[in-house]
Parts: sequence; structure tokens; C-alpha cells
Amino acid sequence: MEERHWHTLSIHETEDHLDTDIDQGLREETAQERIEKHGKNVLPEPKKDPKWLKFLRQFNDVLIYVLLAAAVITAVLGYWYDTIVIALVVLIIGIIGYLQENKAEQALEGIKNMLSPSALVRRDGKRKEIEAEYLVPGDIVYLKPGDKIPVDLRLITAENMKVEESALTGEAITVDKTLDPLEEKIGLGDRTNLAFSGTSVAAGTGSGIVIATGSKTELGKINASIAEVEKVQTPLIQQTQRFGKTVASVIAGVAVFTFIFGYFLRDYETAELLLAVIGLAVAVIPEGLPAIISIILALGVRQMADNKAIVKSLPSVETLGAVSVICSDKTGTLTKNEMTAQNIQLADRTLQVTGSGYAPEGRIESENDVYSNKQDEVLNEILLAGVTCNDSDLFFDEESKQWKITGDPTEGCLLTLGEKAEESIRPLRVISKIPFDSAHKYMATLSPRDDEHVMYLKGAPDRLFSMAEASDSNFPTDMWEKKMTDLAKKGQRVIGVAKRTFNTSKEKIDHDDLYEGIEFLGLIGIMDPPRPEAIEAVNECQSAGIQVKMITGDHKETAIAIGNELGISTEAGAIQGTEIDDLTDEELADVVGQYNIFARTSPENKTRLVKALQTQDHIVAMTGDGVNDAPALRRADIGVAMGIKGTEVSKEAAEMVLVDDNFNTIFKAVKEGRRVYDNLKKTILFILPTNGAQGFVLLMSIFLGTQLPLTALQILWVNMVVAITLSFAIAFEPLEPSTMKRAPRPKKTPLLSRYYIFRILLVSLIIGGGTLMYNLYMNAGDYSVEYIHTMTLNTIVIAQMFHLFNVRVETEPALNRSFFENPIAFYVSGALIVLQLFITYVPFMNTAFGTTPIAASDWIIPFVFGLVVFFIIELEKLISRTVMKRRQS
Ligand code: ATP
Repeated sequence: MEERHWHTLSIHETEDHLDTDIDQGLREETAQERIEKHGKNVLPEPKKDPKWLKFLRQFNDVLIYVLLAAAVITAVLGYWYDTIVIALVVLIIGIIGYLQENKAEQALEGIKNMLSPSALVRRDGKRKEIEAEYLVPGDIVYLKPGDKIPVDLRLITAENMKVEESALTGEAITVDKTLDPLEEKIGLGDRTNLAFSGTSVAAGTGSGIVIATGSKTELGKINASIAEVEKVQTPLIQQTQRFGKTVASVIAGVAVFTFIFGYFLRDYETAELLLAVIGLAVAVIPEGLPAIISIILALGVRQMADNKAIVKSLPSVETLGAVSVICSDKTGTLTKNEMTAQNIQLADRTLQVTGSGYAPEGRIESENDVYSNKQDEVLNEILLAGVTCNDSDLFFDEESKQWKITGDPTEGCLLTLGEKAEESIRPLRVISKIPFDSAHKYMATLSPRDDEHVMYLKGAPDRLFSMAEASDSNFPTDMWEKKMTDLAKKGQRVIGVAKRTFNTSKEKIDHDDLYEGIEFLGLIGIMDPPRPEAIEAVNECQSAGIQVKMITGDHKETAIAIGNELGISTEAGAIQGTEIDDLTDEELADVVGQYNIFARTSPENKTRLVKALQTQDHIVAMTGDGVNDAPALRRADIGVAMGIKGTEVSKEAAEMVLVDDNFNTIFKAVKEGRRVYDNLKKTILFILPTNGAQGFVLLMSIFLGTQLPLTALQILWVNMVVAITLSFAIAFEPLEPSTMKRAPRPKKTPLLSRYYIFRILLVSLIIGGGTLMYNLYMNAGDYSVEYIHTMTLNTIVIAQMFHLFNVRVETEPALNRSFFENPIAFYVSGALIVLQLFITYVPFMNTAFGTTPIAASDWIIPFVFGLVVFFIIELEKLISRTVMKRRQS
């Protein structure tokens, strides 16, 4: 398509140029043809790092440097064999790291595709939702607040529409959109009759003709990549890296010391000693650990996605496990979002509405008798306002044989209410409107009727009361407020309804029109029951020490009533948005802990709440769905967006998206986060003693001046084999029941607690000490070097196999009901035994690793030793448990 100055054209000229029809939209066939011609509406993939660079980066690690140094030294000494194997191991670590990083990236990519944006278009005369990548020039697209605009558009309608264009222009202020043609020579930011791809609708609604897609959009032209760089560095990985650096410097110190010691005080040859020291270095480096950690995190992401929580980056999995406060929206997340209007409050009476759900079955009653809108003009006006000032649709779904709605349930239930009227109600035609948004909490429409234009207004009662007061100084606010509170105390969401009449010259309404001539009509009480599973989840959160706070736009009495049903403590009552506005940040931080119910909140309140909670050292998960929730979602440790009713903007700002909008899903993700974190810790607890034990045996041998128990190659074998088999099982360990009875882990928990360090040292000493003694015993006997090496190798590996079963349960007894729950632990143990048989009996493995076949009876010792290790650790756990309990009480 040739370059056009779209902003200079009128709507009809645009329509002609693009050969479309603004009433009917494109025909499906035309759209198909255009997609062939123009391609899909996608931006070119952002440039990624070349593969070789990614591969090389795997070697940028201190511990790898140590290994490489070892390779160089062995080469200089002429031990080519060792050089080659060490180099091979470095290569394998690199390849595993590279593949792992790729896999994690792909997993995240795949998960992001689950979030691909959609667009509401008109085609063949019907509105329908399609994936945004199938938009073509000429399509008619509808926009609502929070939409991320997927293409460049020439606007054809704009109702109070404001667009945030900072992605394109860098200007943070929102732009008011217009419809008239503009002059040619103006900048992008001034082309107010166009809407650009990559920008987002901040308020209002509108529609437009697609003028450019994909790389032809303004965004595409500046080649701005909107794809963010994913964080795959998690705090835990950083901590392990720091830990690695510490290990490396300790190794260097010990190596130098050992070398000097061995050289002067023991009669080792220089070369032999160097090899021993290299062996020592190789022994204490946990080569497999980084890969295992990212595998566990990636599996966690997968598991969460299966549980309907889409997590966008690996670090979030870890953070989720530490969440200490969940701030949740009420409507739709804690409640079902299936609204039913149950009461209508008139000035002189309260009416009941029978029936439940969206089915238009039921009637409006006063004192158990039908109350007709024919006999009450005000009731008729309320019902008419409800169906006119309304953007939703009510329909009977043939497939599920159920009445359903599209759009906002608060509005959908008003359509049902209209249907229940004694005399039928037909909505009026709307010529201008102020769409609903959570900041204003009201909606208004203007319609022609007879020889006047009538504006209907519905919204949060307190807003409408102040408008009514401004219009009429005698408005009985107290009386209405009491009536409203009575409805709210029943847990109902209350909506006020009002109207204003104009003469026919009034064609457009604005917020300024709402403070004069307003006639208040009445209230509607709407019930939205809590989700049963949320009641359970709130309860479980509380026993896990996680606070649940309800953040709602609703009235405080409604919120308290629903809070009580959910089991959220409402002792302190509720604090309202306006009260929060009056507090300083410090004051808010002081009181935020007291309240669990935050009513009539604004999106700005949410951001301040997150900050206040964070100053109290909380890790905060905050939900949001609207366009204005984005800052709070970004600020929270875990921003949670709603997959169904959430806006694109909120989904983009969030770290986690709920496929089903359900509070229970957040809870499940937190639970999974705790499981993953526990298993990461257990993995470290498990792997490090392998290194500790070998380090101990080698160090002692050098000091005692005896035959070295293992070669560097054999040490590498032990480390790799234990990492790729045994430790893998821990990733699949189920959640320990006690985990959800513990308080969340504090923000600055160190990777290794003191108890963990103790355990690691203890197990290292037991396995290392036992192996050493056995080694000394064999040294005194008549065994070949290969035989001793093979026995030592098997002893350490088999002991670790038994130790795995200790570690599976942190401090509780290992032999419990869940012993057989994780079959993978048994599979990997089997695999490990096969590998050991392989290295012991297969001739070429013997040559490669300097091992030799051993007598069948010589397997008894490693297994007996393993059992002994297992029971000693179980005994230690028992003692530690008792000590810890005593300390707590
Ligand atoms: P929650 O936080 O519980 O999910 P919310 O923040 O979504 O609720 P809003 O939708 O902002 O709450 O609603 C706040 C108030 O605005 C409601 O109590 C109701 O009085 C009014 N309201 C809600 N929806 C509409 C609507 N579609 N039209 C007019 N008024 C509405």
C-alpha cells in the first residue's frame, strides 16, 4: 500500500480508499485475500543473541575457570588423558547449560503464546473476536479501556476516548482522540484522529478502520521491539553463583595450602601433588547444580500453567513461594461474578426480585405481590435506565441451554431485571455516552425520547448522591444513605440510578453535565455470591501465614458482608479509598496491617497499598484487571492479572495471569511456589555433601600422605552421575504437608540456613569419614590401586543414593506414608546402579576411568554403609526435631 496521509482524509474517504464498509465490515473472503496480500499482523521477531554467543556464555563462570585451569595444568604436566576428560566435562556442562537455557526460553515463549492478544472486529455485518494477528487493512476494530491497540487505525467513533501513546511518542500524558480530518504537516502525537499500534486505550471507547498492520504500522517502522527481555536470573541462581565464587576462592586457598603442605611435609612428587590438588578442586565444585536449579524452576512454570496460572518468568516461581500477603479484587476473583439483582429500593418501598442467575424468569414483588412498572413510573424509569445505560448482551446459548451474557455482569443482570418487569421494557437508542470506568464508578447515556433527550445515569450510590445534592439542596441524602447501607449489609453491590432531561439540541454528554438537574430515581441491590473454593483457599492461606486482603470498588458494608462469608477477618472493619487518600505514606504503612478490607478504592490506592505493605517487609501479590491497575501490578512483587476479564494492558504489566480469574488459582500457584523452593533447597542439601565428602577424603589423604583414593576423572564421574540421576528426583517431590502450616519465608532468607550448613557438614563428614576409613583399611591390605578406586567410587555413590531418601523429607521421618509417592526416586536409584555396574564391569569404561571389576561380595560393604548413613541421618533428624521444638516452645 502506498504511503498516505491518513489523518488528512475524512472517514468516508478512508472507507473508500480501503474498500471497506463501516457498517458491515469486511467480508470474510476479502479478509482472507488481504491477509495473503499484506501478511499477518505481526512485528518482526526481535533480534536475539547469536547461538554461539549464548553457548560461550555458559563458560563464563568461576567454577568453570577452575576446571579449565585444571585442564591446562594437566596438559602442561603431560597428562593428556586427564586434560581431555576434564575438557569433555566442561563441554558437557556447557552443552547442558545451553540446552537448558533454550528449553526454559521456549517454555516461557510457549506460555506467552497462550496470552496472544485478540481483537473485536466487525466482519460480514457481525461483531466477533479474532486473534489480532489476523487483522487486515480495512477491518473495523472496536476499542475499549485497557485495550492494547494492535494495528494503526483511522478512528470512526470515539466516546471520550483517551489513548496513552508513550510507547510511540515518549510522552506520558494521554491524548484525547478526535474524528475530523487534520492538516497534513503535523507530528504523530498530533494526529488525534488516528490510533497507533502499541499504544493503549486509557479511557473511553471507540472504533476505527485498520490502515496499517504489522511492520507497516508506525511502531513497525521505528522497529521498536515490544518484546521484553525475559529475566531468567533468579535470586536463587544469583545466590548460588555467589556461593560458587566463595567456593572457588576457598578452593584456591586450600589448594595452595595443600600444595605447600604436601610439597614440604610429605614426599609426594610435584606432578602427583598437582594432580591431587586438581582432584580436590574438581571434587568440591558442584558441577551439576546450576542446571538442576533451572530445570526445577522450569518444571515449576509448567506445573503452574497446568494449574491455570501463567507465570511469565522463572524468578516469579521462586517469589511466589515467599508471598506473605495476597491483595485480591473481590468481584469475580473472590466471588463468582454471576450477578443477580435482588432488590430495588424506591423512596417509599423496597421491592424484591425473584429468580436467580441470568435467566429472565422471576418477577418484581412488593410484599409478596407482583409490583408492576405500569403502576409505578419511577420503577419503570429505573428499569429503562438499567437496560439503556448498558453495554452488555443477554442471550440464550443453544449449546449449553443456558442464559448467558456478554460484557459486564453488573450490566448483564440489569437486562435480566428488565425482562422480569410486568410490562416489557425496550432500551432506548443511545446517541452519546460516558462509558463505565472504575475511577469514576458511573456510566451515563443520552437518548432521544419523544421531544426531548434523556440522560440515564447509573453508578456507585455515593457518587450519584453528591450529584443529586449539587442539583438539589433538599436532596434527602441521609435517608438514601441509610437505605443503601441496609442493602450493602446484606452483601449486595448497590447501584444508584438517576436521570436528567435536555432539549433536543443536546447531542453529546460529558462529565460536567452530571452536577446539575439530576433527578435521583432509586437503588438496585445486586447479589454476587462468594466462590466456594475461595472460602477454602482463604482458610488455607491463613494457616500458611499468608494474609488475604480484599480490595474492592464496592461499598464498605458490602465488602465486610462478603469478607465475613469468605472467612476474612473483618474485626477492624474496612478502610475506604478516600480515607487512604488522607493518610501519608508513613501513616498508611502503620495501619495497613490492621485492615483486611479496602473499600471504594481507586487504582492509585492499590499502588500505595503495595508500597506500604512492602515497607513492612511483605512480599505482595496484587490482582488487577483494569487499565489503571498496571502501575500497582508492576510495583507488586507478583502482579496478578485476570485472563478472562482483564485488559491487555494489565496482562502485560503482570507477572502472572490467571486463566480462570479465580482466587484459588493464586493460592495454588503460591503453594506450587513453596514446593519448588523447598525442592530447590533440598537439592542443594542433597548435592553438596557429595562434594564435601570427596573433598574431605582427598584432603585427609594428602595430609596423611597416603595413596589418593580417587582420580580427578573418577571424581568428575561421581559428581555428574549423582547430579543427573539422583538429584533429578527431588524436582518431583510432592509438597510436604507441614509446608503449608509454616509462615512464609522472610524476604532475606539466606540460601543455606544454619541447620542446612550443619547437615551438609555432618553428611560430608559421615560419608567422607566412612569412605576414608575403609580406604585406609584397603590400603593396608593387598588390593590393586584400581580395585581401591573402584570400591571408593561405589561407596560414595551408593551412600549418596541412600542419603537421597533422607533428604526427600526435610526434618520429618523419611519412612512415612509418602515414601512411595515419588516413584522417580526409585527409577533414578535404579539408573544409578546400572551406571555403577557399567563403570565397574565394562572393559572400555575400566580403561577410560581406571576402574576394575570387583567381587560380587564387595558390593555388600557400600550398601551396608549406605544403610548406616541413612539411619544416622534419620537419628540426627529426630534429635534436631526435638531440639527445634523445644526452642520454639
Ligand atoms: P472489585 O474490586 O470488587 O472487583 P471493582 O473494583 O471492579 O470491584 P467497580 O467495578 O469499580 O468495582 O465498581 C465500583 C462501584 O461502581 C460498584 O459498587 C457499583 O456501585 C458501581 N458499578 C460497577 N459496575 C458498574 C457499571 N457497569 N455501571 C455503573 N456502575 C457500576
